[in-house]
Amino acid sequence: MSEWQQVLREGVDTLEKLAKRFGDDVIDVDALKPAFDNFQMRLTPAVLEQIKEVGDPMWQQYVPTVEELDIQDGMIDSLDEDGDSPVPNITHRYPDRALFLVSPVCASYCRFCTRRRKVGDPEKIPLNQYESAFEYIRSHPEIRDIIMSGGDPMMLSDRRLEYLFQNLRAIPHVEIIRIGSRITSHLPERITPEFCEMVKKYHPIYMNTHFNHPSELTPAAVAALGRLADAGVPLGCQTVLLRGVNDDPAIMKELMQKLLKARVRPYYIYMADQVAGGEHFRTTVQKGLEIVQALRGWTSGLAVPHFVIDAPGGGGKVPLLPEYVEEITDDEVVFRNYAGERYVYKQPRIPVPVDGCGVAAEAAPDIVPIQTRKKSKRSKRPAAKRSARAG
Ligand code: SF4
Repeated sequence: MSEWQQVLREGVDTLEKLAKRFGDDVIDVDALKPAFDNFQMRLTPAVLEQIKEVGDPMWQQYVPTVEELDIQDGMIDSLDEDGDSPVPNITHRYPDRALFLVSPVCASYCRFCTRRRKVGDPEKIPLNQYESAFEYIRSHPEIRDIIMSGGDPMMLSDRRLEYLFQNLRAIPHVEIIRIGSRITSHLPERITPEFCEMVKKYHPIYMNTHFNHPSELTPAAVAALGRLADAGVPLGCQTVLLRGVNDDPAIMKELMQKLLKARVRPYYIYMADQVAGGEHFRTTVQKGLEIVQALRGWTSGLAVPHFVIDAPGGGGKVPLLPEYVEEITDDEVVFRNYAGERYVYKQPRIPVPVDGCGVAAEAAPDIVPIQTRKKSKRSKRPAAKRSARAG
């Protein structure tokens, strides 16, 4: 057994063990049992170390609560991933990329998980059905980007990961492989020198990490990220906006800055999905926009990720921007900068043919009349629509 598998065994994976660790006055085993039965629980030693007190942001992400059973707008498969699944383990939604579920398990289980309907259950993400997935990818030459997910792909052995890389690399049109993984936070020991050597043979391999709070960037996590970066793995981060965890501009700014220092480029902040069992983590879209506004211009552009809603029902990711543009006409654009100061950008004076057949009538060779147009109606469109398009 590898060292990281041994560390995994030292985690807490039953309510009884959790009560022993935090006290049975805090953990009501009977009350929490239905939530535990509904979705697996495991806290690795790294996660346990990140929890400093009961109810803190790390606690909230991993310890079951009875609120998980209070379903209101939540949906089982809120992104309708199964609706876009042509063969087991594949979701093909976007034109040139596909999601490939390769692992049913995670080192720790996040209570807000979008895929909690499947994660933790090897029957729902079967390890013996890779072949139909490979076949599907082979027969779709438009797929150039594979996102390996699960569960956490890094819970697989190096041997199995290499088998996946080899098969994907044998498909000529697969240009990019991405691994979606929270392992650097949950189990940094998993980023072994052996894995780092192996992965170099199959580049370009990217990793999208997942950090939600600055306290997850422990020295061990930062060191694991450094090993991946040294192995040539470009690192991004997907963060989920969670009520009571990171719905605060100062916390998010600290997180983004710490990620950059750890050689990770913040990629997305997601609105928490409308998933059944995770509704108590949701906050408002306005809060997300406030956070993005507090980042953009106030810290390095590299530290400002896209803020998106993954549209319920399978519409895909839609970017949202705070309202910077006040008015757009054919003559000028009026907008405010990050500090709220107003500026005007003059539109270019585009030469327009005037005789209907592409020739400027009687114009001097180097002078082309400018067509005068009325102000665009775009400026009257609702602000929210303009910002969604601009994103
Ligand atoms: S690591 Fe990812 S897949 Fe696993 S429980 Fe957390 S959010 Fe879900």
